[in-house]
Amino acid sequence: MALIVKKFGGSSVSNPERIINVAKRIIEERKNNDKIVVVVSAMGDTTDELINLATQIDKDPYKYTREMDMLLSTGEQISISLLTMAFKTLGQKAVSLTGYLAGIKTNGIHTKGKILDINPQRVLNELENGNIVIVAGFQGCDQLGDPVTLGRGGSDTSAVALAGALHADTCEIYTDVDGIYSADPRIVKNAHKMKEITYCEMLEMARLGSGVMQPRSVEVGQALHIPIHVRSTFTNKPGTIIREEYTMEDKNFVIRGVSHDDKVAKIAVLGVPNNPGIAYSIFSALAEKNIDVDMIVQSIRNVEKNVTDMVFTVALGDLSIAKKVVDKTASDLNAIGVLIEKDVAKVSIVGVGMLGNPGIAARMFKALATGGVNIDVISTSEISISCLIKSSELKEAVNIIHDEFFPQN
Ligand code: ASP
Ligand code: MG
Repeated sequence: MALIVKKFGGSSVSNPERIINVAKRIIEERKNNDKIVVVVSAMGDTTDELINLATQIDKDPYKYTREMDMLLSTGEQISISLLTMAFKTLGQKAVSLTGYLAGIKTNGIHTKGKILDINPQRVLNELENGNIVIVAGFQGCDQLGDPVTLGRGGSDTSAVALAGALHADTCEIYTDVDGIYSADPRIVKNAHKMKEITYCEMLEMARLGSGVMQPRSVEVGQALHIPIHVRSTFTNKPGTIIREEYTMEDKNFVIRGVSHDDKVAKIAVLGVPNNPGIAYSIFSALAEKNIDVDMIVQSIRNVEKNVTDMVFTVALGDLSIAKKVVDKTASDLNAIGVLIEKDVAKVSIVGVGMLGNPGIAARMFKALATGGVNIDVISTSEISISCLIKSSELKEAVNIIHDEFFPQN
């Protein structure tokens, strides 16, 4: 008898019919009385609709972070109760649990919470009583018991963390795509599905914009050694397994995939004094507001005047808060000005194969040059290279880079 955690995303439970189908499929595929925990997201676009409601009260509702969590956590509460009813109509014992009831403890950072600990006792008791246990994704509670959500896409993290706390045999993520692809198949016709990918490559791809998994969930899977099977809700085909090491595929690849992200904005702080502590002032002010910064470049602008430009990117969703913070810091630092560009996008290649394999960056830049795509900012990690380009050229860029590394016969 195995213990399996299965997570179903919003599109998998977007209407009553789909909810009933999820319950049927789980019952049909259950073997040997396996113990099953199901984590669900809110139905369809519910979370977006709730955010939209809040913006009708206040243009910037995220300043009321606790109330946003109180609001957003209701989305998952709808889907757990409906799915549980669906199981019951099919004669299957089942019980729904909110994040709080499932023992998911988070820090107190509303709307961007992190799971600190899970006390799985209630879940284990319910399983012992023969229930399928349906847990609300995306939410936990802080020390006070207040609801805290885990950032957009956070149900993935709920599922993987629960799998870890329950010592589950596997964690399956059911979604509207049938696995992880070498590039977004909606953009690149020849993108191929991978049978396996390592945690560190998946984490890098997720961080760089491949939307299938929340990056934090991959991090949690890696820390807790939980293999994650990403597969389709709508077919029975095997998907992609995210795990520590490759077991079956040819390891002779240089890169694993091309990721892209058009939800980024570039911020340039121009003419800041080139003194110790300047980067610290800018980035600590942003960190205080929990804003992630990427692609940081500092250049010497004017040696005689001893000033420099500081360029970096942030997620588009963080731009309005980031701009306020940076405008203030820039004026405190006597900077010449702050430039914001929104029509930018990031295209990246990812793969452990680039370690100790020179010439990979050159191949990426050559492909972009051949396609006439101008590179604005470049950044690298051990297993990735990213270029900031114009968003209007993104589709073309992803395709030419993919063709360069995965040529069609
Ligand atoms: N419902 C939340 C969202 O839309 C969490 C999730 O789907 O994972 O972001
Ligand atoms: Mg998702």
